[in-house]
Amino acid sequence: MLRPYLRPFSMLSLTQGHLRLLEICPRRYQYTYLEHHTVPTDPAVLERQRWGTEFHRVMQQRDLGLPVDDVLQADAALGAAVNGLLAAAPELFVPQPEGFRQSEHRRTLTFNGYALTAIYDLLIVGPTSAQIIDWKTYQRPTEQAQLAKEWQTRLYLYLLVETSHLAPEQVSMTYWFVAPPTAQAAPAPPSSITIAYTATQHRHTEADLQRLTDQLSDLLAMEADLPQVEAGQGYCTQCPFAVRCQRSSERYGLEGSLVLPAIADIAEVPL
Ligand code: SF4
Repeated sequence: MLRPYLRPFSMLSLTQGHLRLLEICPRRYQYTYLEHHTVPTDPAVLERQRWGTEFHRVMQQRDLGLPVDDVLQADAALGAAVNGLLAAAPELFVPQPEGFRQSEHRRTLTFNGYALTAIYDLLIVGPTSAQIIDWKTYQRPTEQAQLAKEWQTRLYLYLLVETSHLAPEQVSMTYWFVAPPTAQAAPAPPSSITIAYTATQHRHTEADLQRLTDQLSDLLAMEADLPQVEAGQGYCTQCPFAVRCQRSSERYGLEGSLVLPAIADIAEVPL
């Protein structure tokens, strides 16, 4: 019998968020992306997510030539963040007469029965190179080596090479970290981390995508819930489904206070 969330003749999309949860815990992928269970979220986290979405929206509108002055004047922190980024990286905002430049650029690739999907905050393609730009509305919490291992980096670079004329060594991904509103009078200026790419990394990513998609197809073919991660790996302590999975003793402290997800675990809302 077909699972209720699998429609005949439809191809499942796999984004970086899907791949990340699939690798951590297939059951969490099932609850989050196949069954769309909602979980309580800290209002402060929701507000930061709203602010991040607004930042992305303004950057896209500005790129399309739409007016944003009223929005920036109404939100001083947003205005400071956008203007700080424009001042820190003016080269990102000049026209590309010999290339291609687009905000919120979507790429999709059919791979092993799935639709691998990425939405780049900004893509800049020249005749012999390309940069993927991603805005992060929190302050540089991750080191370069860790960022290079994240599924967002790996999938975004893989998709660009597979859907363009460029070799791995000709593409890169740059994360720009922009300070969210804080009580600080002078938040840190925007900073960036650039990840280069190689043919070896490209082959590793392809092999991991093959492994994960094969595994997902096998799991979906079974009439059972997707497997849970081993409790000893420690992921359940930060998971919003700990009660549903009967691993709640790991999720609640002695006082019974809920462990809320980290901001980096909250997906940005697609525009
Ligand atoms: S509580 Fe643990 S087993 Fe359950 S979905 Fe979360 S990570 Fe997976």
